Amino acid sequence: MSSLPSRSWVEISRRSIAANFRAVRDLVGPRVEVMPVVKADAYRHGAVEVSRILLSQGARWLAVSSVEEAIALREAGAAARILVMAGCLPPERQALLDYDLTPVIHSLDELRVFDQLAASRSVSPACHLKIDTGLGRLGTLAGADEILAAIRSLGNVRLEGLMTHLATSADYSSGQTEAQMAAFDALCAHLRHAGFLPPLLHVAATIPVAYGRRQAWYNMVRPGHAIYGYVSPVRGPAPPRLLDVKPALSWKAAILEVKDVPEGALIGYGGMFRAPRPLRIGILAVGYADGFPHRLSNKGKVIADGRLVPILGAVSMDLATVDLTAAPSLRPGDSVTLLGAEGHASIGAQQIARAAGTISYSVLCGISPRVKRLYV
Ligand SMILES: *Cc1c(COP(=O)(O)O)cnc(C)c1O
Repeated sequence: MSSLPSRSWVEISRRSIAANFRAVRDLVGPRVEVMPVVKADAYRHGAVEVSRILLSQGARWLAVSSVEEAIALREAGAAARILVMAGCLPPERQALLDYDLTPVIHSLDELRVFDQLAASRSVSPACHLKIDTGLGRLGTLAGADEILAAIRSLGNVRLEGLMTHLATSADYSSGQTEAQMAAFDALCAHLRHAGFLPPLLHVAATIPVAYGRRQAWYNMVRPGHAIYGYVSPVRGPAPPRLLDVKPALSWKAAILEVKDVPEGALIGYGGMFRAPRPLRIGILAVGYADGFPHRLSNKGKVIADGRLVPILGAVSMDLATVDLTAAPSLRPGDSVTLLGAEGHASIGAQQIARAAGTISYSVLCGISPRVKRLYV
């Protein structure tokens, strides 16, 4: 391991991850299983370490997107059930069995193929079936009778879960959520009547949990964002938010250089910023290659010595420039906060997302693997 100082790093609070998971569990109660989502390397918080924290808090399930993500957790020793949610490519199916992973199946053909594979290896793996109730992405569009027939004809595979995913849960003025729930409930009723309803039913990600949409909880929920301390704002006539979580991650960058520039100086590529008066500028060791959005050029802010200061000019690949006139004590080697709190100032992922014209999920997932992680 190198002991060189970091140019840019994130600090992740283990205590916050644990507390956020417990807050979800306390809200949904003991009859609803909480399956935290640790896809995309736990929204860049580090899936292996985050999973360890969650399992130590009693999580029994983890959800990831891909077989590759699931294998990384198994190889790091995670003994929990692992649900692979975002589909798997045909050559990956063997690995589902080799690593004892639970796939979400998205079509009745795929269900039959998985059953044949299980038969050829004389094993009886579980799987969950995803229904497209209106998201228009992954999930089967088959009718209830077809689904029932497919379940009845399974030889080896056990259908353990039935799930769907909501398209518009953040918009309480849309009727789409109610329509999706009605479709899911109708299918469940049909399967229950025939005696083939799988034991686990799950629909809710963070927002239906946080805003108390209890009819979407069934007996399992799949929060991702909330585990990391975020709940996106909602639109329309929403009920009060019931879930209290706190961001677990803060992102810092080192100052490489501090210098005084005269009035009229142009800063960075394209001369996008011209100093309106003499300024002290700081050059930060972070850029868009680290995931610091280029769209923050001349727009975003960072926290320097406890105050918000503006980004000057273009964010470049490995560097960004900020105004340190109001933070004269900072020197090369000191750090600033890009995301998080320092003194009385704070910058949230939501705020960065708004300035950069994106969403908070994308800000978090955009933090590059070259940004070091420290668990505190
Ligand atoms: C990512 C994802 C989730 C978690 O969503 P959040 O909004 O982060 O809570 C849940 N279910 C599925 C299918 C997902 O892809």
